[in-house]
Amino acid sequence: MAVGKFGTLINCIDGRSLIPIVTWLKEKYNLDFIDTVTEPGVDKIIAQKDSEKTAQIKTKVLISIRAHGSSLIAIAGHHDCAGNPVSKNEHIEQIKKSIDTIKSWNYQTKIVGIWVNEHWQVENVNSSEISLSD
Ligand SMILES: [Zn+2]
Repeated sequence: MAVGKFGTLINCIDGRSLIPIVTWLKEKYNLDFIDTVTEPGVDKIIAQKDSEKTAQIKTKVLISIRAHGSSLIAIAGHHDCAGNPVSKNEHIEQIKKSIDTIKSWNYQTKIVGIWVNEHWQVENVNSSEISLSD
């Protein structure tokens, strides 16, 4: 097992959101490293639970969990997303649906929803705190 505490971020490819999210996650959840899985407009993808792309992302997340013992999965959407150009409200709904999708994977990690606003600041959409000891 790798040394250090890992989290896993499912994020858009857009580089503007990456550093704010990684910094926020490391500080808020006391993590050392954040593994990343990226696709353009990924909140739209994961909101669709049974798609092939979602299955591919699930497989990538599992590598982070198995190899690094990641204790947290974050799903993020952001302002001005070229891959998913919908309103903020639609993004928030997709992020909530994405949280439900990730819950259905039963990976026993914390699950955190993230919205990155027009100031490139992180907002917590919703989180489920699944105890690791259960
Ligand atoms: Zn984007």
